[in-house]
This record gives sequence, C-alpha cells and structure tokens, in this order.
Amino acid sequence: MGDGDCSIGLVGLGTMGRNLVLNMADHGFAVAVYNRTGEKTREFMEQEVGGRKIHPGYTLAEFVGHLQGPRAIIILVSAGPPVDAVIDELLPFLSPGDLIIDGGNSFFRDTDRRGRTLAAKGLLYLGLGVSGGEAGARHGPSLMPGGPPAAYERVRAILEAAAAKVQGELCVAYLGGGAAGHFVKMVHNGIEYAVMELLAEAYDLLRRGLGLSPGEIAGIYEEWNRGELASYLVEIASPVLRRVDEKTGQPLIDLILDQARQKGTGKWTSQEAMDLQVPTPGIDTAVMMRDLSGYKAEREAAARVLQGPPPVFPGDRQAFIRQLGRSLYAAMVLAFAQGLALLQRASQVYDYRLDLATVARIWRGGCIIRAALLEDIRAAYQARPDLEHLLLDPRLGREVMARLPNLRAVTAAAAAAGIPAPGLMVSLAYYDALRSARLPANLIQAQRDYFGAHTYERTDIAGTFHTHWD
Ligand code: NAP
Repeated sequence: MGDGDCSIGLVGLGTMGRNLVLNMADHGFAVAVYNRTGEKTREFMEQEVGGRKIHPGYTLAEFVGHLQGPRAIIILVSAGPPVDAVIDELLPFLSPGDLIIDGGNSFFRDTDRRGRTLAAKGLLYLGLGVSGGEAGARHGPSLMPGGPPAAYERVRAILEAAAAKVQGELCVAYLGGGAAGHFVKMVHNGIEYAVMELLAEAYDLLRRGLGLSPGEIAGIYEEWNRGELASYLVEIASPVLRRVDEKTGQPLIDLILDQARQKGTGKWTSQEAMDLQVPTPGIDTAVMMRDLSGYKAEREAAARVLQGPPPVFPGDRQAFIRQLGRSLYAAMVLAFAQGLALLQRASQVYDYRLDLATVARIWRGGCIIRAALLEDIRAAYQARPDLEHLLLDPRLGREVMARLPNLRAVTAAAAAAGIPAPGLMVSLAYYDALRSARLPANLIQAQRDYFGAHTYERTDIAGTFHTHWD
C-alpha cells in the first residue's frame, strides 16, 4: 500500500486532524497525512497508527504522491491565515478537478473567498464544519458540509462513514452552497456559547444561592441529564464538578480561574446576527459574559466597594432546584430558537437553501450541542419547513410556555439575591418581547422624528409622517 493508493489526504495532525485520520482509517479508507512539523507526523506514525492504512508524507510532494486522482485533501489547521498558507503551499501540486476540504472553524466569509478563488483555478472547495471535539473526531463527529454539490458527492462515502449516527441516522448531510457548512457550524458554536452560559448560571445559583457543594450540584446535573435536559453539555458538567484536585484534595472546579476564553465563533455569530438584524440575545449575552469574566481585577476591586443583597435564597430549596431545571429547558429551547432564526434569515440572504429539519437532525449526535430536545426541534421543522419561529411550533411553544412561570420565579429570585443570571433573564425578556403584539418602539420612532426628522408610520393611516414637535 502506498503511492497513489489513498482515497483521502489530511493536512494538520493536531487534536482534530489526528483523530479524524484514525476514524477514517478505521472505516477502511487509506489516508495520506502531512503536518508542517514533521516530528509530529513521526510521533503519530510511531505511537498511534498501528496497522492502519495511513501513509505519511514528510514533504508535500510525497504526501500528494500518495493520493488517488482526482485528489481530495482535508485541511485541519488553525483557522485564519494558516488555512490560506496551506492552500498556497498545496496549489503547485494540484490539478484541475482536485478537491480541498477545510474542516476547521473558518470564518464563513473566508470560505466564500477561498471557494471563489479556487473555482477560478478549476479546483473544488468544500467548507466542512466539524463538531464533537477530540472524542467526536475520533469516534463520530457531526459534520456540516457546504459548497458545490459535486464536491460533497466526491467525499460523501468517507464523510458518511466517519460521521456520528443516531438510531441509524447519519449526523452529516449536504447543507447548501457556498459557505453554508461553515455558517451552520458558526451558529452551532453560538448556540454552544448560549447553553454553556445558562449552565454556568445555574451552577452559580446553586453554589452561591443555595450554598451547595460541587459534588451536590453534580448530582443535580446527573438528575437533569436523565430527563428533558438530556444533552452532552449537561452530561459533562457532572464529571467536571466531581473532579478532585490531586494536589490539594479540593474540588478542582473551585481552583479553576473564573475567566472564560474564546476563539471568536460566538462573537462572529453575534456580529453576523446584528448585520442580518436577527435578535440573538442569548448568544450576545454569552459573549458579553465571557468578556466580563476577563475583567477579574476590576471585578475584585468592585466587589470590595459595591454593595448588594446577601446572595441567598430563603424559600423551599427542592422547589427552587425543580424550577431551575424547568427554566433551563425553556431557556435552552429559546437559545436554539435564536440560532435557528439566524440560520433561516442567512439562508434567504445568502441563498443557502438550508433545510432546518436536516440541520437539527445532524446536530443530534456527535456534536457539542447534541441534546434530546433536538428531536422535537427536528419534528417541528419536518412538520412545517417554513415555520416562522420555533416557538410557533404548537408543541414546543406549549412546552416553553408551561415553564415560563418557573423562569419568572428563578430570575426574580436571582435578581433579589443579587446573583447575575443574564442568560436566563434575557431568555425571559426575549420570550416576553416576542409575544408582545405591541412594543414601545413607538416612543423610539417618535423621538427619532423629534430630534432627527426621521419620520414614522402610523397604526391607523398608511404613509410616512413627520410632526413639528416644538
Ligand atoms: P491544534 O491541535 O492546535 O493543531 C493545529 C494544527 O494546525 C497543527 O497541525 C499545526 O501544525 C497546524 N498549523 C498551524 N499553523 C499552521 C501553518 N501556518 N501552516 C501549516 N500548518 C499549521 O488544532 P485543532 O484543535 O486540531 O483545530 C484544528 C481546527 O479545527 C481549528 O480550526 C479549530 O478551530 C477546529 N476545531 C477544533 C475543535 C477542538 O475541539 N479542538 C473542535 C472543532 C473544530 P504544527 O504541528 O506544525 O504546529
């Protein structure tokens, strides 16, 4: 096995690349691999490959020589300039009809640009969102491909074999043209930010408000994961909360610095949502809270001087935990609803022609936001592909509405105790704004007309009006 025998090549043997290569090889595909730092390739070959059909290239010429034509090459390197650098280095070795697949978290506008540039050279380009982290890449990720349909068909068998499966259904599907795949992955990450913020707030309310230990909170997350909140992010909260630090014997979570980092996919989602004028307050709030967490010194200084109420809940503790779980369900549905509303709008503006039932289907397994409630979301879009808003699905709308008294009680208790819960609060406000047939935007319009003669419309007469307010 070797020269010219590999059906797929992969550049970038980092966390994701290494694991995706092993995954594809375990499904019987011969894979050629290359990494900028050859030492990493050597280590990978010696320590992880075993008897699998994986062929190293220590130069790009050697790597490309392993590939069957027309070639298909996955790039899995850090997003941004490294992707352009790898494409530029590969180009001299490629021929028209070859296919490049970018499996990283690339910004969708970069994917559009690269796709156009490569199409002009006769090459195919596929933007492939990959979710599931290290374990997903190794055992079955959720894959979100977008680009020319012919590009997807070329590697369809490999991607289908490598992807996660849920009850026999694949967590990969062709999503649409252009950068559809990377757009969907971006929004996936935006939803991930929103859900993680909600889970962090719930932890804070239990830890500070009820004074529970990390171990006790882990038990609550385990219980939640057995019910309607069943999802990967709820599931992994328990082992995280239970982990004891080997050095000190204390819960590790108590020793981890409270400053959340980010690579930008949540911020891109919010920025794009604002550009397309789609409200995504849960995602915006999650980005904002990661930013605010970074102001550690300022928070410590403020904590010494700015007073608030004692952070405790006086009421029935078990009732509060129950209400919090139900609030989380409502807020999680609302976070998905916001992300899906953004996808719906982007699909119209960028002509992706996304099928949201398919998006929900491929998010049910392998990826970080996989959750039991995606089954209901999928059913909602299957029943009505043109559903204006997820909450207008009769079943989901009813389920969220039934939990709103809980969300009101929890956010009121958080406000009274001075524990920040902006993700939960903004979910409530989004819901209430959405169901307000009349919002106070009339005053905003009137004031805009007052100071800037921006005009306004009336509810009773058609046309555009201006008033001389003075
Ligand atoms: P990683 O472990 O940090 O590895 C980065 C890889 O990129 C290495 O192979 C590195 O090569 C290569 N690289 C960096 N700059 C390069 C350049 N200028 N030219 C050539 N190669 C270069 O990264 P990762 O976590 O696997 O992530 C890869 C992509 O997948 C990223 O876009 C990431 O956002 C995305 N992603 C990651 C996850 C995750 O959970 N980690 C999940 C989904 C998506 P050297 O060894 O030579 O430095």
